Amino acid sequence: MGGGGVLLLFLRFSGDSPQYLHVHLGLIGGWTWWDRDHQQLAGRPVVEADDSNVRLRLRSGRGDAERSAELRGAITCTLVDEEGLDSAVAELGPDPLRDDADPDVAWAKVRKSRKPIGGLLLDQAVTASAGLIWRAEVPFLAGVDPHRPGVDVTEDEFTTMWSEMRRVMKGAVERGGTEITTDPEDRPQTDGHVSRDDAFYVFRREGEGCLRCGTPVEVAEMGTRKVWWCPGCQPR
Ligand SMILES: [Zn+2]
Repeated sequence: MGGGGVLLLFLRFSGDSPQYLHVHLGLIGGWTWWDRDHQQLAGRPVVEADDSNVRLRLRSGRGDAERSAELRGAITCTLVDEEGLDSAVAELGPDPLRDDADPDVAWAKVRKSRKPIGGLLLDQAVTASAGLIWRAEVPFLAGVDPHRPGVDVTEDEFTTMWSEMRRVMKGAVERGGTEITTDPEDRPQTDGHVSRDDAFYVFRREGEGCLRCGTPVEVAEMGTRKVWWCPGCQPR
């Protein structure tokens, strides 16, 4: 998923003892594609970049059909065996996109933690696929300040966050990756077109009026990254 999303990949290489490539894109990781003359075909444009952040290079085809893919900037790119795969998967929290995910596993971690809910939602051990957009938008949708410690989040509030996470993530997948959290009635433009500015309630909207209550949206550092919230709609 793009934007603030997080992408995880496990690729199996068969053999007597199978190996698995474990990739986690993190915030800045991504794939770029090249033709045989090293003209870029797809992916985030790479301008005068050196190879220092290349984590993996794959090549296929011959002659004119030769293509290569580079993985750049990923926070994880390792080859693991069966045991390593099991422990990597075990460390992941439930994935809201999966119908069989168990939100109680995430709730058990949240309710015991003094860390802010906005940080917990980014922690892969709590939820497997949340990103920067969701850690801001999901607390908004549940009416919870992202600074509130996990221990002070009620079960009802967490249940709302989980179901909102599922709803907005599934919507993004159905739209081919376009992330939108706002309801149509909250968008200033009513012609059906959703501009990037109207797609979110608080994400990257610092200083602008909240789409629901008009209070200026706030921004702060949380961990090493930003978080946005509406002081009017999201009590501490
Ligand atoms: Zn508001």
